[in-house]
Amino acid sequence: MCGIFGVFGHPEASNITYLGLHSLQHRGQESTGIVCGNGRQLIASRHMGHVADVYTSEVLAPLKGANAIGHVRYSTAGASHIKNAQPFAVEYAHGTVAIAHNGNLVNALHLRAELERDGSIFQSSMDTEVIVHLMARSGAPTLAERLADALDKVQGAYSLVVLSEGQLIAVRDPMGIRPLVMGRSRGAYVFASESCAFDLIEAELIRDVAPGEMIVVDQGGMHCSRPFHERECRHCVFEYIYFARPDSILDGPGVTDCRERMGRRLAVEHGVDADVVIAVPDSGVTAAIGYSAESGIPFRMGLIRSHYVGRTFIEPRQSIRHFGVKLKLNPARPVIDGKRVVVVDDSIVRGTTSRKIIGMIRAAGAREVHMRISCPPTRSPCFYGIDTPTRRELIASSHTVEEICRYVGADTLGYLSNEGMLQALGSHDGKAAALHGSCGQHGYCDACFSGDYPIPIPEPPASRRGSLVGS
Ligand code: AMP
Repeated sequence: MCGIFGVFGHPEASNITYLGLHSLQHRGQESTGIVCGNGRQLIASRHMGHVADVYTSEVLAPLKGANAIGHVRYSTAGASHIKNAQPFAVEYAHGTVAIAHNGNLVNALHLRAELERDGSIFQSSMDTEVIVHLMARSGAPTLAERLADALDKVQGAYSLVVLSEGQLIAVRDPMGIRPLVMGRSRGAYVFASESCAFDLIEAELIRDVAPGEMIVVDQGGMHCSRPFHERECRHCVFEYIYFARPDSILDGPGVTDCRERMGRRLAVEHGVDADVVIAVPDSGVTAAIGYSAESGIPFRMGLIRSHYVGRTFIEPRQSIRHFGVKLKLNPARPVIDGKRVVVVDDSIVRGTTSRKIIGMIRAAGAREVHMRISCPPTRSPCFYGIDTPTRRELIASSHTVEEICRYVGADTLGYLSNEGMLQALGSHDGKAAALHGSCGQHGYCDACFSGDYPIPIPEPPASRRGSLVGS
């Protein structure tokens, strides 16, 4: 769960990167970094904390140069530490190179064990560092070829921006699991995890980086290639359900449109007599609007969110998460008191938040509480870059919908079906389709619901107990 940004050939590259990262803050809140280049050298600035707090004008001032990449990070496991903050930058035989990664490499532990056996010394516990070591060992003459060589050996999900003294390279894994878009701003090429980053900097969205595509930008212009074997497209469904910002357009569909259609489908599949539809803000709002539009039951803001706390789930420590629900959400009693309430959220993970929320809605006087979830039951963990707990902690991996309903304390519980979800994702308007330069048809990774992992997950090597941190 990370966000990446890159710009080449802009007079204010680090300021633009700062703004881009600010728009991607929802993708990771632990650490942030910018590496900028002036054609001769790279300057790195990495910090723990939020973009707006870290990047004061004093911190940005020395980051001079026309090229930059940036990163916001939420570790999918392990240490939340400055040594794991990205972009990761190293000096090696061919100069300096910095890399910002969103995704998770499933064979990183094996590769790292092999590299260490051959004498490599790692500076961090990030899977991304494996790519850098593999690049350093490649005998290929150009940066793009060294990167392609390295990526040929890794398996997993990656959207990357890589910066050297003279080049910016953007690349996306062959299945296009994590998003990456390309745009133009004042003649400069820009890349970002999500298109919402372009709106703030007034860049024009050109298209998605295609699955398996590598785009090299340098003084000579832009060059696109497909250095990997073609694979089927498998965009992550969870980006559309929860993770991406609703104002983003990813691989064709607009995220808001998808979420609204999911809410509409949910109303068709799980209609109920009720007085009011409310949402768990912010993640459930768009689907709740769709549910209300389809069912004719009025939508009202029944839960009010404090904007001064982050996403509660994203805090790594369990103790904070429980307290965080109360800190974050409060029911609006006049909307709820004496009513039959439909409450819509995007997903149930452990069930603990939902249980507390339903408790709060009942305490505010609801006569009935009907919970509706705009995706199928989350049964399997993600190994491609979304932070989900282990299978054992996922309530739907070991409980039926009826059991979950009882646990969260709802009168009824309804999840969107897999077919309903795919249908809601599938249809999009012509303009969006034109932007969708990647694969002809939409294939999605829905492993978190189906357990169908498009890239096999190897057993960790016996010699290693630890885990490598994803990005
Ligand atoms: P719970 O009730 O404990 O299962 O938590 C469900 C809440 O967590 C929902 O409101 C979701 O929006 C949110 N959520 C789902 N997946 C994630 C994730 N990977 N990271 C952060 N929050 C999530």
